[in-house]
Order: sequence, then structure tokens, then C-alpha cells
Amino acid sequence: MDELHKIARAYYITANEESKSQGRRFFKSIDHDGSRGITIQEYLPYMKRNGHTKMANRPFFDYLNVSGTGELEFMEVMTLFYIIKSGRKFCDGCDGLLKGTFFSCTDCFDLDDESFNLCSECFTESSYVHPHRHFLDNYIILENMKVANKEGQMNHQVQNAGASNAIVLYNRQSRSSVFATVFQAVATTAATFTTCTIM
Ligand SMILES: [Zn+2]
Ligand SMILES: [Zn+2]
Repeated sequence: MDELHKIARAYYITANEESKSQGRRFFKSIDHDGSRGITIQEYLPYMKRNGHTKMANRPFFDYLNVSGTGELEFMEVMTLFYIIKSGRKFCDGCDGLLKGTFFSCTDCFDLDDESFNLCSECFTESSYVHPHRHFLDNYIILENMKVANKEGQMNHQVQNAGASNAIVLYNRQSRSSVFATVFQAVATTAATFTTCTIM
């Protein structure tokens, strides 16, 4: 069982009753014959109909089916539910689901649907076509957003800006300035690394 199955299981077990019944409704919406198991014949049309084309294939079904029974049981479908609801991204290099740490183009990060993300392999091997070259991993991005939020709140308190939009504006501004600082750090490291390699 990989990390995503464990995460989904943890969320389901600790969820409130309303969320659990949402999960059960999701399962029933795919389990047409009510057999309490989802076959590939039920899975594929559902996924295609709902626009989850990158997951509408046999290898992805097999990935979900950790029990190896050929039918998805309830918890396996909760993994799918989690993947869909959490908006997990797919690698823009190899189309694989980004299960762990990934790299995101910081120029496109704010563009939601048009964000550009890569798995470690595609990032390392430069196996992608994209006009930008500034990438950071999701943990650094999250940490920077926290710092930016704090800065935003401090600015907000100092200047006592009334409108809630002001916070968003400050956050956005500080986020890019924090990114700029990280870029500099990365660029410096890269330059040092290159120099060392040449030497
Ligand atoms: Zn990839
Ligand atoms: Zn980009």
C-alpha cells in the first residue's frame, strides 16, 4: 500500500459522518450493479464520463486495486475519491500521477488549471517542453506561502488596511518577493555548483 492509500484511509477513518456518507455516495455512483465491488467495466465509463481521462485506463485501475482482486473495494475507491477531491496533479512530462514530492513552475503556479508540474525524474532529466525554467518543490512552495502569509498579516496589522482584498494583495506581492529570494538562493547555489564541477 503506498502513501496515497494510507492518506485516504486516514482521512476516511477520521472523517465526520457527513463526509463518510459523501464517500459512500461516491462509491454507489460507480457501483451500478450494487455488487459492492467496482469492476473495470464500471470504472472506465464512469471516469471517462466525468472527465478524468488520465485515470481512465487499466494501469490506473490496477494501481488503485492494491488487494489485486480485480474489483475495487470500498477503501480503494476512497483513494480515488481523495485523489479527485484533493485535486492531485499529473506530471506534465510523463502524465503520471504526482504521488509524492513534485516540482512546480513558479511562473505558472498561480494559474490553477494551467499550473505546470513535474515528477522528480522528468525535472531531473529535463523531460518536458515548457517556456519557463524556475521550478520549486511543493514543500518549499508551501513554506514560502506560510512566510508570505505571515508577512502579509504583519503588513496588514501595521497599515491597518480594512478591506480583506488588501490581505490577498499583500500576500501575492510578498509571495513573489519571497520566490525572488529563493530564486536568488537557487541561482547562487547553481552557479557555485557549476563552478565546482568545472574545477
Ligand atoms: Zn514525470
Ligand atoms: Zn511556467
